[in-house]
Amino acid sequence: MQQEDLGGTSPALSGANLDSSNVTEAWTRIRGRLREEIGEIEYRTWMRQMTLAAIEGEEAVVQVPSRFLRDWLRSQYGDRLRALWQAENLGVRRVDIRVAPAPAPDGAAVDGEAMPRAVPEPARPAEARAADSRSADPRNDWAAPLDPRFTFDSFVVGKPNEFAYACARRVAEKPASPGFNPLFLYGGVGLGKTHLMHSIAWALREPGLDRSVAYMSAEKFMYRFIAALRSQSTMEFKESLRSVDVLMIDDLQFLIGKDNTQEEFFHTFNALVDAGKQIVVSADKSPSDLSGLEDRLRTRLGCGMVADIHATTYELRISILEAKAQAAGIPVPARVLEYLAHKITSNVRELEGALNRLIAHSGLFGRPVTLESCQEVLHDILRAHDRRVTIEEIQKRVAEHYNMRLADMSSARRARNVARPRQVAMYLAKQLTSRSLPEIGRKFGNRDHTTVMHAVAKVQELMQQDAGFAEDVELLRRMLET
Ligand code: ADP
Ligand code: MG
Repeated sequence: MQQEDLGGTSPALSGANLDSSNVTEAWTRIRGRLREEIGEIEYRTWMRQMTLAAIEGEEAVVQVPSRFLRDWLRSQYGDRLRALWQAENLGVRRVDIRVAPAPAPDGAAVDGEAMPRAVPEPARPAEARAADSRSADPRNDWAAPLDPRFTFDSFVVGKPNEFAYACARRVAEKPASPGFNPLFLYGGVGLGKTHLMHSIAWALREPGLDRSVAYMSAEKFMYRFIAALRSQSTMEFKESLRSVDVLMIDDLQFLIGKDNTQEEFFHTFNALVDAGKQIVVSADKSPSDLSGLEDRLRTRLGCGMVADIHATTYELRISILEAKAQAAGIPVPARVLEYLAHKITSNVRELEGALNRLIAHSGLFGRPVTLESCQEVLHDILRAHDRRVTIEEIQKRVAEHYNMRLADMSSARRARNVARPRQVAMYLAKQLTSRSLPEIGRKFGNRDHTTVMHAVAKVQELMQQDAGFAEDVELLRRMLET
C-alpha cells in the first residue's frame, strides 16, 4: 500500500536519504496546510484524491485519478505544492503530478485521507520538531512561503476592502513611512487579510529591491520561538528576526494567552520599529478589541495605521466571482454568478470554493455551467446557507429587482409597473412561506385575501405565457428559497 511504500526500504527514498515518517509527516502537514489555505470545499474537490506515490531524487511524485485533475492541479496548485514541499526542507525541489489508475478496491488505505493519522489538523508538535531540526539555518527558512496566487493584481477591490487595500499598497510602495507603521489589518475570516499580506510581501520582494521580508503566521512565530528556546538558540532567533526589513505576522489573535511569546513579539516589534523597519500585522479584531493581548502591545499595535476589511457586499461578491470565473477560463453565466452572490454571503473563501466546485464539475463531466447544474452540484453548501425567508425579505428583494420603492408593496397605487411586481411578491410569499392568504394580504397594505389569490393565479398564468417573465420569477424564487 502506498503509505507503506514510503518506508525506508524504498530505493527512491533512501536515495533522498529520508526516513518514511519524515516524508509522511511532511505530506500530512502539506495537505493540512493546503486544506487550511483553500478551505474544505475546494480541498475536497481537488486534493482529496491526491496520493503521494514516491520521492524520486529531488522530485515528489503525486498521483491523481484523472487527467483533468492532473491538469487543474498542475496549473492552479503546482507552484504552491512545490513551495510547500521545498519549505519542508527534505530536499524536494520539484513536484510531479501524474495520473494513476483508480485506487484498488481496498482504496481506503491507498488514499491517505482515510487513515486516521492523515487527517491533518496541522500537526503542531511535529511542526515544532521540524522547526527544531531546521533551526540550523534560521535566516533562510523561518519565513513561510508565499502563495503565488495572492497578489495585488488578483485582489478585487470594492467598498468593503478599498481602505485596507489602499493602505497595503502604500506600505508596499513606501515601507516604514510615518503613520503607516505598524499596519494593522483586521477583519473576519476569509475576507482577504492573508491575501493582502502576501501581496505586500510579493511587491516588497520584487527582484532588485533587495529587501528581506519575513512573513509568518503568529502560530509559526510561536513554534519557532519555542523551538529556539528548546535548542537554546534564542539569540540566533532574535537576531534573525531583527535583521529583516519588513516583518509580517498573520493572525495575531493566536498569541492571546501565550504570554511568553507575546512578550518576545513585543520586544521584536519595538526593536524593529525603533530601527525604522516596517511591521504588518493581521488579526480578526481591532487592537482595542483583542482582549487578552497585553495592554502595552495593544497600544503599540494601534499606533500606526489600523484598517479593517468589512464583510463583503453583493457588488463585491459579483466582481470577485467574475474575476475568478474569467481567470479559470470557463464561461459561467451571469445568472449563476448572481445566484451564488446572493446565496453565499459568509466570506470570499466559501464563495471561491463554491465557484471552483462548479467549474470542476463542469470540467469533469464536460458540461456547461447552468443554474440547474449549480443547484445540483452545490446542493449541500446551499442548504447550509439557507434560512427561513420572511415576507419582508421577499418584498425587499422583489422591489429591488424591479426597481420600485419598497413602500409601494403596501401602497394603493395600481400602475402596472407597481402592481405587477407586487403580485410577484405575493405569489412568492405564498410559495415560500407558510403564511395564509389573509396574513399575506395584511402585509401588503391590508389587502383582501382574494386580492392575493388573484395575484397568485395571475402570476402563474403569466409564467405560462411568457418565458422571460417565468425565468425572472424563478430566479427570484431561487434566490429567496429556503
Ligand atoms: P483571511 O486571511 O482574511 O481569512 P484570505 O486572505 O485567506 O482570508 O482569503 C480567503 C480566500 O478568498 C483567498 O483565496 C483569497 O484569495 C480570496 N479573496 C479574499 N478577498 C479577495 C478579494 N478581494 N479578491 C480576490 N480574492 C479574494
Ligand atoms: Mg488568513
